[in-house]
Amino acid sequence: MEAEVLDVARKHALRNAVLHEGRADLNAVVRKILAEKPKVKPKLRELIPIIRSVVEEVNKLSLEEQRRLLEERYPEALERPKKEERGTLPPLPPAEGFEIVVTRFAPEPNGYLHLGHAKAAVLSHEYARMYGGKFILRFEDTNPRAEKVEFYEAIRDDLKVLGLTWDEEKLVSDDMELMYGVAREILAKGYGYVCTCPTKVLRARRRRGEECSCRRREPHENLELLDKMLEGAYAEGQAVVRLKTDMRSENYAFRDPVILRIIEHPHPLKGDKYRVYPTYDFACAVEDHLMRVSHILRSIEFTTRVEIQEAIYKFMGWRPPVAIQFGRLSMEGTPLSKRRITPLIKEGVLSSWDDPRLATLRGLMRRGIHPEAIKRLILDIGPSKSNALVTWELLNSYNRKVVDPLANRFFFVPRPKLMVVEGAPELSEVRIKLHPNFPERGERTLRIEVEEGVAKVYVPGDDVEGTAKLPRRLRLMGLFNVDVLEVGEIVRAKYAGNELIDPKIQWVPAKYNVRVLVEVPGKLFLNEELSKDSLTVVEGLGEENCLSLRPGDIVQFERYGFVRVDEIKDNVVKAIYAHK
Ligand SMILES: [Zn+2]
Repeated sequence: MEAEVLDVARKHALRNAVLHEGRADLNAVVRKILAEKPKVKPKLRELIPIIRSVVEEVNKLSLEEQRRLLEERYPEALERPKKEERGTLPPLPPAEGFEIVVTRFAPEPNGYLHLGHAKAAVLSHEYARMYGGKFILRFEDTNPRAEKVEFYEAIRDDLKVLGLTWDEEKLVSDDMELMYGVAREILAKGYGYVCTCPTKVLRARRRRGEECSCRRREPHENLELLDKMLEGAYAEGQAVVRLKTDMRSENYAFRDPVILRIIEHPHPLKGDKYRVYPTYDFACAVEDHLMRVSHILRSIEFTTRVEIQEAIYKFMGWRPPVAIQFGRLSMEGTPLSKRRITPLIKEGVLSSWDDPRLATLRGLMRRGIHPEAIKRLILDIGPSKSNALVTWELLNSYNRKVVDPLANRFFFVPRPKLMVVEGAPELSEVRIKLHPNFPERGERTLRIEVEEGVAKVYVPGDDVEGTAKLPRRLRLMGLFNVDVLEVGEIVRAKYAGNELIDPKIQWVPAKYNVRVLVEVPGKLFLNEELSKDSLTVVEGLGEENCLSLRPGDIVQFERYGFVRVDEIKDNVVKAIYAHK
């Protein structure tokens, strides 16, 4: 194994060096090795030192020597690199001083994940896997007023649904003493101070770019004040720890940012154990350092925070990870932010966080969007800097590709109309494939009653009404052909043979069927205005086999569209419409 890896490592190190002005990048080489020899993956940790020494050796050679060795020993590697396949991500920039690629997804447990979160999670996860690195799930739980126990589990569940696995889980609230320790070091070095200005004054001065007298406190005084904060001598809002950065910065967030503040509210997991909590920026910087995160992938709206986190790294003398800010994701016609969704739920416009009109992961799942479709879409968008507005059509087109081969077929007749067929042959059932392309999945049986040559079925009203010329020949899919003779309260028709013809329509037996309600979610907002009919219900009849479905099943109602079964109760099937 080792000898084999050594050879492959030498090849890719040389090739990577030749492509990059004589300097091979360890992570890029590891990635190529994994692509060529996936079985190496479980042993990667042990092999990294070997691969690293190969890369170092290669980097000592001149570019000419590298090229000569590559030509001599690995002529096959000289071919031009193939264009990256669709769905694969562009390579990560090298992170100096980091041995393996470590990424993290760091949500605050204060709500349900939406498509934007999914982007950060999927990209971070994918990169860690691509380089045989490590992916961390970290809960940024240091703002107890906003956080709830239920959200920790909800976030884990949502990530599992997306098919993501993490190598390590971390709660920032487990590291509070450590946060205080780093803050003490910053204060001792004179890079921060305890500010005892009232919150309002602090904010007003920050707006005006004015320094307060607290800024001139000596380190020993600041350390004493921090101890007093921790002991409970100050109430919430009476004292904070701030970094000494630049009160006149163009970036308001960088004007002596707060790193520790008092929050008098029980923590969802730690109760009343702590009263001084780190801010998001501080917690992030410290944890990323502790966990040896090499690459941070986050949305571009974090840009104003970058300076703060960089300052913390500088004050502490830490080596910063590589931060990649990618474009924001928004969803056509539906808000993503908690701030906008919460009032809609309170007002009863939306049923809950899994309302199918929402682009929360739960909402998308309920609507029949397959997790794989979400992943493929995100990987295609990738970490590019441009913001992306995802339309439902785009998401649906990804979903269609994923669910079409998976979804079994059933008949659903919207707005049913009774059709009486005369001259029908004697039969008691027909069998139709569950999926036309996968005969191995078997068939479903539709029971039908023919009495004295008369068969009764329901057909979609829209398919038989408004036809100009009668008689008109139609095929009842999987059953037989009919000539429609008269369309009134009921449809009169005559048996017309059994050869395959068009048009074909779906039907259900008049005696054996089941009531089906299809909820059709539309856009919640149209031109920024809340739409009045964003959720409509289509009533109809389904074949009785629908009763054997289970909530969560995604099926195709033939000629109607893909739906997800939401509930089956009292012999009524409730489904949610996904798309055509
Ligand atoms: Zn002050």
